[in-house]
Amino acid sequence: MKQSKNFFERAKKSIAGGVNSPVRAFRAVGGNPIFVSSASGPFLFSEDGNRYIDYIGSWGPMIAGHANPRILSAVEKALPFGLSFGAPTVAETLLAEKVKTFFPAIEKLRFSSSGTEATMSAIRLARGFTKRDLIVKFSGCYHGHSDSVLIDAGSGGLTFGVPSSPGIPDDIVKNTLVLPFNDLEATKSLFLEYGSKIAGLIIEPIAGNMNMVLPEPKFLENVSALCKTHGAVLIFDEVMTGFRVSAGGAQKLLDIKPDLTCLGKIIGGGMPVGAFGGRANIMNALSPDGPIYQAGTLSGNPVAMAAGNATLTEILSPNFFVNLENQTKTLVRGMKDRAKEAKIDFTMISAGGMFGLFFLKEPPKNLNEVKNGNKEIFSEFFNEMLKQGVYFAPSMFEAGFVSSTHSQEIINETLDGAEIVFSKIKKKFGLKLK
Ligand code: PMP
Repeated sequence: MKQSKNFFERAKKSIAGGVNSPVRAFRAVGGNPIFVSSASGPFLFSEDGNRYIDYIGSWGPMIAGHANPRILSAVEKALPFGLSFGAPTVAETLLAEKVKTFFPAIEKLRFSSSGTEATMSAIRLARGFTKRDLIVKFSGCYHGHSDSVLIDAGSGGLTFGVPSSPGIPDDIVKNTLVLPFNDLEATKSLFLEYGSKIAGLIIEPIAGNMNMVLPEPKFLENVSALCKTHGAVLIFDEVMTGFRVSAGGAQKLLDIKPDLTCLGKIIGGGMPVGAFGGRANIMNALSPDGPIYQAGTLSGNPVAMAAGNATLTEILSPNFFVNLENQTKTLVRGMKDRAKEAKIDFTMISAGGMFGLFFLKEPPKNLNEVKNGNKEIFSEFFNEMLKQGVYFAPSMFEAGFVSSTHSQEIINETLDGAEIVFSKIKKKFGLKLK
């Protein structure tokens, strides 16, 4: 890893922290980040000449594998026509129409260039539409890095033990109410007290930024009913789960229609795309039809739209999701079996092509339970798996992702590596882990 180390030292002189997004710096697991030179199918290749089986997939977007030839070809076709026009194109409408077939709750949408912009805009829309200020979120849910939601957020915020960032004025913090995930009683009490002032409630319906946490049965139905009763806009942040836990996201799996949905990652197939959309009467409040402002110079970028369209075409291909889900389940089952053989307290959960991995007996129900995991053991696991050529997320607060190119052979290779790593962990930390 000498080359990566050198490149990192050089990067640190010009780029803050040497990285353009904090979790990439590997601070939570020690060591230096791996500098990637290329990627193909399930593999990442490093500047050091190593090959890794990748379970991050650019944090979600690469559901059809890296450098997928059909997606690359769609991008190549778009390139000669120009990189950006700042004017409408047919490709935007085509992608919007395709998204709507996956997400019937989305009657109208608007594209942005990131998930952060999508959630930020959805929140402004909820506030403008209801003429109320308060937003409800859940601790451990991450909704991008805009001020209103970078409060008790997951992902990098948790990794570094910074639940909210300096630089967010108290006047903004006071308008965001934070609840424990899966705590219906706390949610009911909050609505009882503040219901008439709540503009919207934003939630990751399957949380993926405090590792992976599933909603308890009926939790989201009850949350949805509370929003309806109190006239608050229900926002599902499906930037991670959209096209990932099922083609129609968590809302399809759980059969709940939110008022607004935020999308990102897969919708751009690796290019910078986000989207937010939902009930037409709410979306019509956006400028130019309505008074609520939202915009973007590069929103709907033609090359990004081409990548998004091609990626969604992949997902629509026969058996795409059945296979993806089976592959993910095979990984989960195999990892759990190997850990059991080594007598290690370890568990995994999955939905579609997304998984959570915990050095705990039971899957956690909220952020506090996720925090019970042992960071030292996780770091050991991460670094040892890396030595086996398997690249999991470098933090115990991140979910993992499988692509359609993670074949049985690739999963077997992963499991062989895990067997070695679990036995090392057993030797180092003892038979039973806490
Ligand atoms: N919402 C969720 C649920 C996410 O997982 C993320 C990114 N991890 C975001 C919003 C922000 O998206 P972006 O990084 O594209 O701004």
